[in-house]
Amino acid sequence: MDLDSLYQEIILDHYKNPHGKGLRGTADDAGTAEVHHVNPTCGDEVTLRVHLRPTDAGPVVDDVSYDALGCSISQASASVLYDLVVGKPVDDALAVHQEFLTLMQGKGAVEPDEEVLEDGIAFAGVAKFPARVKCALLSWMAWKDATAQVVAAGGENR
Ligand code: ZN
Repeated sequence: MDLDSLYQEIILDHYKNPHGKGLRGTADDAGTAEVHHVNPTCGDEVTLRVHLRPTDAGPVVDDVSYDALGCSISQASASVLYDLVVGKPVDDALAVHQEFLTLMQGKGAVEPDEEVLEDGIAFAGVAKFPARVKCALLSWMAWKDATAQVVAAGGENR
């Protein structure tokens, strides 16, 4: 199996069996923020809720729950996002976010680091297609937005 077929298989698998899908908790819980992002070029939409939990070492991503509509790439990337950030300290999750962003903005020239991105490496193929990059980044941008809102509100310390 060539690399592109393997990547497509990983994306299809997350699309068919999304991890962490569905909204959990309530949007106005302490430490929670909810955002709605759309990708008008493709018609993808995501409603995403982030809950951060305070620890002595700083806030941890307690849960990321979401409802996603749209193409297989946008929905699969939400599932991969869930796998990669839930349970991590916010700073570590932001570092993974940056790594994914670098991959997606690399026009296919960035070699993905499987240690960091796990199934996220499958989007290396998508990075070659500028029109689809926004699909892959939709939920990731929504996650960063919601996380920044919780942190700005000091909500992770409540
Ligand atoms: Zn799309």
